[in-house]
Amino acid sequence: MESNNKLVLWDIDGTLMHCGSCGRDALNITLEKMYGIDNAFSHAKIGATSDVEIINSIFEYYKICKKDISKLKEIYEITLKDVLSTYESNIILPGILDILDYIKLNKSIDNGLMTSNFRVGAYTKLKSLNLEKYFKNGGFGDIGNNKIDILENAINDLEKACKKEFKKSNIYVVGDTPFDIRAAKYHNVKSIAVATGFSKYDNLLKEKPDYIFKDLSDFKDMISILTD
Ligand SMILES: [Mg+2]
Repeated sequence: MESNNKLVLWDIDGTLMHCGSCGRDALNITLEKMYGIDNAFSHAKIGATSDVEIINSIFEYYKICKKDISKLKEIYEITLKDVLSTYESNIILPGILDILDYIKLNKSIDNGLMTSNFRVGAYTKLKSLNLEKYFKNGGFGDIGNNKIDILENAINDLEKACKKEFKKSNIYVVGDTPFDIRAAKYHNVKSIAVATGFSKYDNLLKEKPDYIFKDLSDFKDMISILTD
């Protein structure tokens, strides 16, 4: 059934939080433990790419035949926890907690993720800052090539979980890169760009997002978009 609820889909790195290169470091350590590859990411496609696609490109480069992705995810989870526990600059970005708390209490807004991280990586990162309780569903980097695929999976997953259909005009993607904005435009949903990550404000502006913020410290501005 079509609903009038709004759906907010969040990118993680550079949007909700910063954890430096912890994800990448942990994947490098995992690939070294499992396959003896040193600094695997120097040969990886990164950017808009899903974690599974990155790992597959590394497997291809190193001609690895024994592709045990589920074992890799198990070791990655343990390694990422370790790496995050020693990283001191792990932070939640400005305004995020206020917005997430607001959404949690508001029955007419649903919340989800759309991240290129493996599901296990996404939740390990979120747990390190107690953010996991806000997100039960989403699209992750376990399936699909890029943010366009991941956003489609996120919408399908949330519609199934919430047992409702969201109007495209009520879906908002929040992200820190041009890839997030382009994925939103591809699927004809709204984009909210935030310059707290790897892309500069002016570069995000060139992508013509529906809304753009330097950061979300004035969280009421973001809430007013969602309660329009
Ligand atoms: Mg990001």
